[in-house]
Amino acid sequence: MCTYEDLVDVTLSHGLVPLVVPQLRTITLGGAVSGLGIESTSFRNGLPHESVQEMDVFTGAGDVVTAHAEGEHAALFRTFPNSYGSLGYATRIKIELEPVPPHVGLRHVRVSDLDALAKTIDVIVADREWQGERVDAVDGVVFGPDEAYLTLARFTRAGVRTSDYTGQQVFYRSIQERETDALSMLDYLWRWDTDWFWCSRAFGAQSPRLRRLWPKRYLRSDVYHRLVGLENRFKIMGRIEARRGKPPRERVIQDVEVPVEGTADFLRWFDESVGMRPVWLCPLRLRDPAGVGTASAWPSYPLEAGRTYVNVGFWGTVPMKPGARRGDVNIAIEAKVTELGGHKSLYSDAFYDRGTFDRLYGGVNLAHVKQHYDPGGRLTGLYEKAVGRR
Ligand SMILES: Cc1cc2nc3c(=O)[nH]c(=O)nc-3n(C[C@H](O)[C@H](O)[C@H](O)COP(=O)(O)OP(=O)(O)OC[C@H]3O[C@@H](n4cnc5c(N)ncnc54)[C@H](O)[C@@H]3O)c2cc1C
Repeated sequence: MCTYEDLVDVTLSHGLVPLVVPQLRTITLGGAVSGLGIESTSFRNGLPHESVQEMDVFTGAGDVVTAHAEGEHAALFRTFPNSYGSLGYATRIKIELEPVPPHVGLRHVRVSDLDALAKTIDVIVADREWQGERVDAVDGVVFGPDEAYLTLARFTRAGVRTSDYTGQQVFYRSIQERETDALSMLDYLWRWDTDWFWCSRAFGAQSPRLRRLWPKRYLRSDVYHRLVGLENRFKIMGRIEARRGKPPRERVIQDVEVPVEGTADFLRWFDESVGMRPVWLCPLRLRDPAGVGTASAWPSYPLEAGRTYVNVGFWGTVPMKPGARRGDVNIAIEAKVTELGGHKSLYSDAFYDRGTFDRLYGGVNLAHVKQHYDPGGRLTGLYEKAVGRR
């Protein structure tokens, strides 16, 4: 239950941070390890579960076991990431940290062509530098097929004049406006939390007038998340839209991992078929050298070690076409991602049939491990949680 916000407050005072710090402050370490998390360091540090050294898991059978990559509970350790509490609850997690300097220099590199964008990502991931400058972290934003930016971050000790996007200025807009920038390490880690990427605009938080009145301490993703919860409960905006004769909308909140060579294809297809803008990009490579060339290192989310993927994130709603069923757009995205050899995170809506789900998320192994650690089926299964919304 330790949030990354609390964790980073403690570690950063020692000049250290977790290898991957998910962008939203209130994600917990347990949530990121049992689900999935990703950030701009993932091209060199993989995913949060890859820095776990050991963990205590309170299993469905009622035991507390200490799991490592090797030994008696290795199968639990390996199967745990992307199990979302279906095998047990992590009650203590020991992770590796890395030393960091106090500042981050940023370079926003514009790329006007999606094929060139994918190629540039591939080169940066392989070389860990761009035009002679070291790259410590990289992510990107696609505003449209001919306007994408890669934000290259270089961690630095040098005293620099830093910007502040925790008040009136909005970080994602600065990407289009400036070529270089600098942030404190803490502000870099939470640069996306203040406006929940760009999603705060739906609540009016980016309108200069309202923003001046909006208390700074409430410019946070968990505040917007609560506002979404209220809307889901009372459907105030939904009813106003319906009265105005607007079509109902489908929720499209997903993060998908597409192999880098299929990324341009996916982005083109997505822009034409779904049309949400902007989208977030984050390259990643599994870190685990033991798994090189295999897909089995983390069987519940079997990315291939040694291969570069790009996480594509899009969060919002789209108007439903006449005659469409709710879920159609999400189902089309699932099919496209599978066609390109990618994977989809399960934190949001999923529509897979049981057979496809088991094939994509290591169903046979998961059932075997669940039988061992939760023989009575006390904990809701992964399919029932992710697809059945139980
Ligand atoms: C709206 C939204 C935005 C997101 N944005 C990002 C993002 O920007 N970056 C990113 O990296 N990820 C993002 N994610 C994904 C997120 O990292 C995962 O969903 C993660 O699992 C959430 O962790 P949490 O601590 O909030 O857990 P919760 O949402 O509280 O729980 C998520 C699931 O994990 C299980 N769980 C929680 N703690 C434990 C534990 N200790 N042991 C076992 N199971 C546990 C819960 O049972 C539940 O099924 C987002 C998710 C959502 C819903």
